[in-house]
Amino acid sequence: MAFLDHVLESPSYGWKDASGALITPTNKQLLSEFFSRLNIFKNKKNWLSFFSWMKVAALLPFFVLFICYHFSWPFFIAGFLYSMVLMGTHGTIWHHRYCTHQAYTFRNNFWRFITRNLSLKIIPEEIYVISHHVHHAKSDQPGDPYNATGGFLYCFLADVNHQPISRALDETDYDRVVRLMEHTGVKSNSYKRYVKWGSIACPLQSIMHWLLNWGFWYTTFYFIGGHGLACALFGGAFFWAVGVRTFNYEGHAKGDKEKQKDGTDFNREDNSINQLWPGYVAGEWHNNHHLFPSSARSGFLPYQLDLAWCYIRTLKSIGAVTSYKDSKKQFLERHHEPFMAQKNKIDENSLV
Ligand SMILES: [Zn+2]
Ligand SMILES: [Zn+2]
Repeated sequence: MAFLDHVLESPSYGWKDASGALITPTNKQLLSEFFSRLNIFKNKKNWLSFFSWMKVAALLPFFVLFICYHFSWPFFIAGFLYSMVLMGTHGTIWHHRYCTHQAYTFRNNFWRFITRNLSLKIIPEEIYVISHHVHHAKSDQPGDPYNATGGFLYCFLADVNHQPISRALDETDYDRVVRLMEHTGVKSNSYKRYVKWGSIACPLQSIMHWLLNWGFWYTTFYFIGGHGLACALFGGAFFWAVGVRTFNYEGHAKGDKEKQKDGTDFNREDNSINQLWPGYVAGEWHNNHHLFPSSARSGFLPYQLDLAWCYIRTLKSIGAVTSYKDSKKQFLERHHEPFMAQKNKIDENSLV
């Protein structure tokens, strides 16, 4: 069996039926799988998913404190921009373009560390990275961990139900998984510890990193704008952490192939679409991205603002990033220019 076919922990309802078609679980099945896989008392190997959602839940009290005791419109707007733009763009810069696609390289570990910790730590790298490789290999096919044709909840709960790595990897496959994560700087468990914990990440180190990261940012925000600002930004992060889980469903057009538009969505191999909101706030021009996954830039057309690319370019200009891949030229040559030439020809003919 190919590596990407079994690298993720299969859900109890399975990926596909005997005929190879996607199994679409009911909402009840999805929720039952979700809570079963969060239960650390049933199986301590569930710790990483539990830890990830615990962090999300831990952000909610900050929002409540902000609303009840510190509310102000300027801080509310700051929370909105921090969560949607900064955290959204950071996800693209770090988890997506660097950790998964290795679209650029850092000069040294210092800049990697700065970039990793540029915003509140919430999503564990391994949950994102390994499953995202599978997503690209099987987009909108059975086995895609956030297959949009499986429905909203299938994607929304994917980080627990479909994205964690398998707990049954042999040593050779575990080594391959570790190699996919090597450049991220996340310290990997030995095979023996993986067998014990079911994860690449080490629990103690993950908890320490989380505490230091949140402690650093709360203190920084406090010195800038007191508890009011800190609670507004941490509270805003709660909405980002929940909202970001809807992207995989929306970014693949809710499973609807008809949503792809001529002149906008050039890749027709899957259901991905370019959308203005994820594009503007996070540089996620998802149809472009599926055309050129390893490009450090996804906003190819003049209106496609790509803040993640702006960050990578800025780091390159100060020498913190040593190289990047940029597929804009190929995109224009192979897709956009032929499309425009064809369009102009049709327009000219219609004038005659
Ligand atoms: Zn996709
Ligand atoms: Zn990708």
